Amino acid sequence: MGSSYTRSGVFAVSAPSGAGKTTLNSRLARSHPDIEISVSLTTRNRRPGEVDGQHYHFVDRAEFQKNVDAGRMLEWAEVFGNLYGTSKSEVERITGKGHKVILEIDVQGWRTAKPKLPGALSIFILPPSMADLWERLEKRGTDSPEVCWRRFKAARDEIAAGRIYDYFIVNDDLDRAYAELEAMIARDEPGKTSGEAGKALCDRLLTEFEHSQKILELKTIHEKI
Ligand code: ADP
Repeated sequence: MGSSYTRSGVFAVSAPSGAGKTTLNSRLARSHPDIEISVSLTTRNRRPGEVDGQHYHFVDRAEFQKNVDAGRMLEWAEVFGNLYGTSKSEVERITGKGHKVILEIDVQGWRTAKPKLPGALSIFILPPSMADLWERLEKRGTDSPEVCWRRFKAARDEIAAGRIYDYFIVNDDLDRAYAELEAMIARDEPGKTSGEAGKALCDRLLTEFEHSQKILELKTIHEKI
């Protein structure tokens, strides 16, 4: 691993699917030309409006595997049947220009990349509530109800692993959450929520998830009677 990774300027931003990381990161990169989002490789299908090389590098499985075998990936993982990953050369391309780089990766990916990026700062975006998260997944309209439900359940596991992050941002009001993210990444200010306070936020969401599961189970049992 080159020494370019150990200096600051590398930021990992993760969130359970639907919490708003794409919205927040895109706005940050649009407003700050010296902040770039690293473009991941993926084997998933292109969604309407997505541009190859801009949102993702869309590749087939054989090509993805070639990069893995050659040791060119910083992290990669299979999510919902598709491969996603960040290449070392993509991060070097951005830091080499003196720009800051945001790794928009999931929790599993950050767990893999974290030991390789000791100078990076990590930020976890959280929804204000699990009910809000479900509503955003549905309203986004990119996934079937089945996929929304799978993402919602996966969100539970991601939030349970949230303590590996340095800082936490609750995306309740978009402008307020954006201001927190911008302060940390564009102005190198310390985040507002970390450590025990961050863990408490995650625990509250997990409790809410367990309750909603209970309500769903009761509803199912009741409907069978
Ligand atoms: P992610 O990239 O984390 O999966 P997105 O950025 O796609 O999430 O956001 C999921 C949906 O929630 C989108 O439709 C987006 O417009 C909406 N959204 C994002 N932030 C907020 C917010 N603070 N309040 C309400 N809706 C939001």
